[in-house]
Amino acid sequence: MIDRLARGLHDGRGLRALVVGVGDLARMTRMLHGLAPTSAWVFAEALAGAALLAALQKDEERINLQLECAGPLRGLFVDADSRGNLRGYVRGAAVHVPGEPAAAAVAALGGGGFLSVLRARIDGTFYRSSVELQREPLVGGLRRWFSASEQVETALALEVLPRDAEPLGEVAGLLVQRLPGGDAAAVVEARDAIAAGAFGEALAAGAPALGLIEAVAGPGFELLAEQEVAYRCGCGIDRVRNAVTALGADGLADLVATVGRAEVDCEFCHAHYVLEADELRELERRMRAAGPAPGG
Ligand SMILES: [Zn+2]
Repeated sequence: MIDRLARGLHDGRGLRALVVGVGDLARMTRMLHGLAPTSAWVFAEALAGAALLAALQKDEERINLQLECAGPLRGLFVDADSRGNLRGYVRGAAVHVPGEPAAAAVAALGGGGFLSVLRARIDGTFYRSSVELQREPLVGGLRRWFSASEQVETALALEVLPRDAEPLGEVAGLLVQRLPGGDAAAVVEARDAIAAGAFGEALAAGAPALGLIEAVAGPGFELLAEQEVAYRCGCGIDRVRNAVTALGADGLADLVATVGRAEVDCEFCHAHYVLEADELRELERRMRAAGPAPGG
């Protein structure tokens, strides 16, 4: 499936479905962060899951999917918004566990830790909910997160399938939810179809978005809208300026005297920012001219 997010609706049964492909994105981030095979595989799943979670939010809202785990992968983080922009990183970038990829991923995650989802609204308020990780794939933790945190019955699938020599040949996620008054049995049927491998088979066969949804949740869906998904980092030199401003005027003077410059690497896109001494002195001058901050 190409990198897109599609939304489907089944009026008769009262269901909504989301399906997303993030194969290009997963292969690109593997290169960007230099991920070893198992790290890349787990991160691919996380990207698909985060894209689905973000698509459930309203305009301008964003989500952070965070995993802290006991295994060698240690953790990962994905920041995603409702417009299809994703970015993230893996703590243990060099993890490779030989053997079948899905089993290797479970070993890399280990048997403990937590999975948390932070939902940030545009007004600055946020809401976080977490579940403890068991010895399970990431999709297992996310399913338990859905049943613990959402009031809506959900069927969830995440798939990473090889294509020829490419281990991240197809990376996709699918979610089916019951709308108010919708058919409760339909979500159970979708879960059973996922457990029986219907999503993976349809994905491997090259089914388009509607075909993937209907392979899991049955016929009769209408495709509503498609949306681009892409790896985009919103970092920039202004954020670095804001970060060094937090040191205060005296802290900036100290930095100029000792290091002579400020260097910051973005953990999401590896952009490298440098503020030279002249600019740091100018920031310091402006801060002193503005006077002490309120209360300090
Ligand atoms: Zn960046």
